[in-house]
Formats: sequence, structure tokens, C-alpha cells
Amino acid sequence: MRLIVSNNADQFIELEAIFEEKTYFERLNFALKKFFIFFTLASVSVLIPVAHFILVPSFLIASIIGFKNAFKIRNRLKIIKSVACLSCQSELAIPEAFNTELSIDCAHCHQRYKVEI
Ligand SMILES: [Zn+2]
Repeated sequence: MRLIVSNNADQFIELEAIFEEKTYFERLNFALKKFFIFFTLASVSVLIPVAHFILVPSFLIASIIGFKNAFKIRNRLKIIKSVACLSCQSELAIPEAFNTELSIDCAHCHQRYKVEI
């Protein structure tokens, strides 16, 4: 599989990475793990006097948000070799998890790149 990081000026860099597409059940499994981590923290927080009024609702809300955000992640990239920006040669920070499309902004010169699979 070939991954290409490109900008609008028809320049591209070949990205050495492993692309993984998660199935529905893998995404559900990952999201449920996130949910139960925060749900467990909420359950343990019940035992803490006074602070539990803030901690329990916070962890319950975090469990729902964590589930939704983890379930959205459809694709993962395992970067083998980092790539440098074509304009300023600084290293591009490529996120490892994304939903459908992945675009990257260079932190230094704000050049926008799109990852094509
Ligand atoms: Zn740059």
C-alpha cells in the first residue's frame, strides 16, 4: 500500500507507514474499553467524600465523550519513517488515528498537506 503526503503544488512525499482500517467490532471494542475506564473511575469516585459531587458526574460525562470519540476512529497509521515539510524541512507531525480523511498543517510554515491512500 502506498501512502502519499501531498500539497496543492503537485509536490509529494512518499510516506512509509502501515495503514490499518478498523472493522465495526474493533471500533466498538476499543470504544467500550474507553467507556469502562471512565465508568470505573466514576464508580471509585463515589467513595471520596465531598469531591464525589464533582468527580462522579465528570467521569460519567467523560465516559460518554470518550466512547463517542473512540468509536469515530476508523483508520490508523503506524508511521515507520517521519517525513519533512517540503517548504521548511521541519518534521511533520502526522496523527496516528483519523476518521476518513487526513490533512496535516506544518507547525512552522502552515503549509497544508493531504494524505492520500
Ligand atoms: Zn513547513
